[in-house]
Amino acid sequence: KRNVQYISTGVKALDELLGGGIETRAITELAGEFGSGKTNFCHQLSVMVQLPEDKGGLKGKALFIDTENTFRPERIVQIAKYRGLDPKEALKNIFYARAYNSDHQMLIIDEAKKIIPKENIRLIVIDSLVAHFRSEYPGRENLAERQQKLNHHIAQLLKLADIYNAAVVVTNQVIAQPDMFFGNPLKPAGGNVIAHGATYRIWLRKGKENIRVARILDSPMHPESEATFKITEEGLID
Ligand code: ATP
Ligand code: MG
Repeated sequence: KRNVQYISTGVKALDELLGGGIETRAITELAGEFGSGKTNFCHQLSVMVQLPEDKGGLKGKALFIDTENTFRPERIVQIAKYRGLDPKEALKNIFYARAYNSDHQMLIIDEAKKIIPKENIRLIVIDSLVAHFRSEYPGRENLAERQQKLNHHIAQLLKLADIYNAAVVVTNQVIAQPDMFFGNPLKPAGGNVIAHGATYRIWLRKGKENIRVARILDSPMHPESEATFKITEEGLID
């Protein structure tokens, strides 16, 4: 297999489910309903990537592209402390970009190739990948244009991931649908473009209280199974 590396999620059960963690040179989609833990997961990975390799990281930095204004520095501080990092350093190692619309989001990715190698960025997060596209191109009449733009965006992301041996992690909303999707009346948004563009698709759902359940969708490499984790002050834990 081509030379890939893994970022530990910080959750043993999840790393096992994923065959080592979040893979570089790939796009991993986190899909799930509100409160299922997508944004927490993104914060966690932005810290985990910074750890040395013997602790599950890549000793690299993160680029966090925020479309919904849900990045919380204080959350990074909590997670970094728990993982034994200097919180100030951890924050400095996360390059933050607020994307104000879908064109801006794509522009940030175009520009990112300048800083990724210079800053040793090994993780690119987009939380959320599809929100701007969905609100700017609503309805059937805009579907073709929206999907074409998303397709281009995803291709650009995969290219960056491959060239710089970085992991790309994107979040996705789930939408109601008429047919059942893996036994669920919801399915990830973005249609085929994301279904085919994402290398790995992780479906998150809420359990009791702070418990969350992750399942990997349609991966040839991973048998269909689930892992549970908790969302706490310290981030995601077993
Ligand atoms: P959305 O679709 O609305 O963006 P999401 O999937 O991104 O949702 P998150 O924001 O990651 O979901 O998860 C929210 C959950 O995380 C809440 O249920 C909240 O209880 C929990 N949470 C957030 N901060 C903390 C914290 N400091 N300690 C414990 N739990 C927390
Ligand atoms: Mg969120």
